[in-house]
Amino acid sequence: MAGEWQEATSISQLYEAIKDCRRCSLGETRTNLVLGEGSENAEIMFVGEAPGFHEDKQGIPFVGPAGQLLDQLLASIGLERPQVYIANTLKCRPPENRDPMPQELETCTPFLFKQIDLIRPRIICTLGNHATKTLLRTSTGITQLHGKITRKGGLTYVPLFHPAAALHKPPLKSVLIDDFQRLREHLEAERISWEEEGENPPQAVVQAEAEPEQMGLF
Ligand code: URA
Repeated sequence: MAGEWQEATSISQLYEAIKDCRRCSLGETRTNLVLGEGSENAEIMFVGEAPGFHEDKQGIPFVGPAGQLLDQLLASIGLERPQVYIANTLKCRPPENRDPMPQELETCTPFLFKQIDLIRPRIICTLGNHATKTLLRTSTGITQLHGKITRKGGLTYVPLFHPAAALHKPPLKSVLIDDFQRLREHLEAERISWEEEGENPPQAVVQAEAEPEQMGLF
């Protein structure tokens, strides 16, 4: 039988403990709870809003069109999905992809904090308004905060536009592409300071040195 989620010592234990969650009404309408995907040792974590249609069906975050753009953006800075960890503020799909409700966020974000605790990334990229406001505890919107590197509680946060927003508004896509390059530069600078601290360069950062894919991909 699944244990208490607070006591989970791995992502798979956490998943077992909450996969049948009914703490809010989204538990009644979802197909699959979407906890997250990627390396449990990831140096960098991406946090989106909530699963959409494809994610709900497959139980994997960012597998629809926004996910394809996210994959391309990762490739542009020399990263692949298995090197990072990808999660959402809500673990279950809101009907018709409506915005998360405050009560749902309040109920679900303890699971996100537990994930962060288990993975202990160095950098968290918040994708869009909901993740940014939830994790940075700010009312300032993503339009002002995107690309601004913020340190809080021993973690570095990089707020970014949500890839789905960039798909709907092409001008945002070039901003997102530029912000990813800033993220790449930040990763490279961090690698130098981590090396100075005598730590092994994290895999994700080493990979960030690889040649970026052609921007033609976008
Ligand atoms: N949008 C999100 O915020 N998360 C997903 O997993 C997919 C689309």
